[in-house]
Amino acid sequence: MAEIYVIVGAGAAGIAAAERIRLYKKDVTIIMMSIDEYSHSRCMLHKYLGGERTAEELSFVEPDFFEKNNIFWGKEQKALGLDIQNRQIRMENGYQPYDKLLIATGSVFGIPPINNFRTASNVYGFRDLSDARKIDAAVKAKNAKHVFIVGSGLVGLDVAVGLMERGVKVTIAEMAPRVMPLQTDDTAAKAYQERFEAEGARFLLGIGASDSIVNDQNEITGVVLSTGETIECDFVICAAGVRPNIEWLKDSGLAMERGITVDGYMRTSAPDVYAAGDVTGLSGVWPNAMDMGRVAAANMCGVEAEYTDRYCMKNTSNFYGLQMLTIGDINAQIEGADIYVKESRNCYKKAIVKDGVLKAILIQGDISHTGHWQYLIKNSVDVSELLKQKDVFDITYGDFYGMDDLAEYQYAL
Ligand SMILES: Cc1cc2nc3c(=O)[nH]c(=O)nc-3n(C[C@H](O)[C@H](O)[C@H](O)COP(=O)(O)OP(=O)(O)OC[C@H]3O[C@@H](n4cnc5c(N)ncnc54)[C@H](O)[C@@H]3O)c2cc1C
Repeated sequence: MAEIYVIVGAGAAGIAAAERIRLYKKDVTIIMMSIDEYSHSRCMLHKYLGGERTAEELSFVEPDFFEKNNIFWGKEQKALGLDIQNRQIRMENGYQPYDKLLIATGSVFGIPPINNFRTASNVYGFRDLSDARKIDAAVKAKNAKHVFIVGSGLVGLDVAVGLMERGVKVTIAEMAPRVMPLQTDDTAAKAYQERFEAEGARFLLGIGASDSIVNDQNEITGVVLSTGETIECDFVICAAGVRPNIEWLKDSGLAMERGITVDGYMRTSAPDVYAAGDVTGLSGVWPNAMDMGRVAAANMCGVEAEYTDRYCMKNTSNFYGLQMLTIGDINAQIEGADIYVKESRNCYKKAIVKDGVLKAILIQGDISHTGHWQYLIKNSVDVSELLKQKDVFDITYGDFYGMDDLAEYQYAL
């Protein structure tokens, strides 16, 4: 009988893994399951909300992906638990056995402990297509004019774009003093803030929500700020803070901290059980989830591969035509590091270099041909000789031409 490879989760990590497993193993049975009805890109959800794309158009795989790769995909199938002893997953309607298992269940949003937020009927997250559908329905039902968003990270800004596309006014509260605080510095944040404000958004930076007002239908109609001001709203969206989706594994005995504990090969504490993507808590971004999925897949198939991006955060965004790439912690306070900044009308760049090694880079504007930066940062390549000849931002892929392992990064954005 063919071995059974099971993947729980059909998002970035799960799909990347399935594709890789099929590449290595032509004859194993691959079974995927997901709560999702469509395999969709979370990064595109705002396009659904804004009416630009249908649910089908959020897919990031070819329509015949599952058929072509001979993968059985159980849509709308929720895994409820893991039985390590008997090598099976508990489902709503029975058990699914596995020989090799990959857990790729992503993350879930959290609701901050603000009065009424966790009990009111009109507080939403923005994580899955089902969330986007709920928000869409709420906009229509309420003929919504004004929405309060908690958090100005990628998710908060994405949902703001989707709502503003529909003429809904948004107020975005951010505890940090700038928008997208993890990926930007003050200059890059300001450029994004101005673009959003030009579209009608209002930001409350360094300000939190402290209370809320509910009507007799248990709906929040106003959010009280830490300044005392009350902002009226039709509903609230929480986009501050996600956590690995591990609740369903709590009785499994699997080693977990914030997320599922994995080693460099994406192995968990249980035999033949691997984990990849947001569920590991190692990263919260798409390209890292895919990389983890591919690494896990290789090891599941007996091809040794290591995930080495653990500490190299990479993020790309594009709001109102302004693209940005951030690799590493651009706000890191590194003693003795040199900070390089270059600003022109259309582009802003910042790099942190310590002892000839690039630690972080931010490019806002044209981010094409920048794949090599990830390689240099991840591999702590010493560029001190190059820096004697040229500006850090003039370093290109060509300076390392011939390095085989760099080639894959050239177009890797
Ligand atoms: C609105 C939004 C915008 C984003 N924008 C960006 C961006 O611009 N750039 C970027 O790099 N990253 C972005 N991200 C983050 C990125 O989407 C995630 O890092 C990525 O999707 C993680 O991939 P994953 O495979 O770990 O999880 P996911 O892609 O979330 O997939 C999880 C899968 O698990 C399934 N699942 C969950 N629980 C169960 C269960 N109990 N049983 C069965 N199936 C289950 C789900 O149905 C889903 O198929 C964004 C995220 C959001 C929400």
